Amino acid sequence: MHPAPIPGNFTNRSEESRAASWGAGLKMADPGSDHDTLSLSEIYASIQGESTLAGWPCVLVRLAGCPFRCAYCDTPEARDERVGQRVPIGEIVRRVRSLGLPLVELTGGEPLAQDAARGLATRLLDAGYRVLIESGNSVSIEGIDPRARLILDLKTPDSGMSEQQRWENLALLKPEDEIKIVLCSRSDYEWARDLVLQRNLTEQHVVHFSPAEATVTSRLEDTPSLARRRRITRRELAEWILADRLAVRLNLQLHLWIWGRGRRGV
Ligand code: SF4
Repeated sequence: MHPAPIPGNFTNRSEESRAASWGAGLKMADPGSDHDTLSLSEIYASIQGESTLAGWPCVLVRLAGCPFRCAYCDTPEARDERVGQRVPIGEIVRRVRSLGLPLVELTGGEPLAQDAARGLATRLLDAGYRVLIESGNSVSIEGIDPRARLILDLKTPDSGMSEQQRWENLALLKPEDEIKIVLCSRSDYEWARDLVLQRNLTEQHVVHFSPAEATVTSRLEDTPSLARRRRITRRELAEWILADRLAVRLNLQLHLWIWGRGRRGV
């Protein structure tokens, strides 16, 4: 079954053309074969919750394995590549097709930590799907099919992973790619605000600011360096953004509002 299009700008062909021309001359990863396998945590239908496409029905392909250990990680079950199930790319595409939605997000863990994920993205795009890739900025985004839209998750100091992230990825983003920053504290907010202003990020991309949600509070409080700091509230973050007249989007993880915290498969 060929996926039905989503109406509106989401299927804007000129956007695809721009993405394709942006990618001209870039070295693309070999898309590999249907028999290449990926370590898979889960596949399910949900509501996209953390981008400008929040609200659209979406297939989430959660790949296993991540080099990072963020203090607020809400998918610890997907961080170890060895616990995932090895599934051929052709089978993943079949499972996506069986869920009958035109939008697919590759997430994790860190989806790009497995080279074959780039081939999976290209297969899905060739089959007519719109593809989002949410990456935690721990590995290079080079070689990704330019028709895919990236959501690059920049790591704050309180995540514990700020120093290890791949800053060079910022220069590889296409204009339609988006940036997400999860914030644990006022000092995280100030760090993120100064970063987006100094690098003019909001003039180049949509930038999302999210408060670290309560699903991870206990882990945050288990982290000695963070225990003395109170978790920020959604309202505080909204008011800081307004006070600074910052051109970022407040992102409240829509799927958590619908299904609550700590549940898999939503
Ligand atoms: S990058 Fe994502 S999956 Fe990896 S540890 Fe951080 S929050 Fe968890």
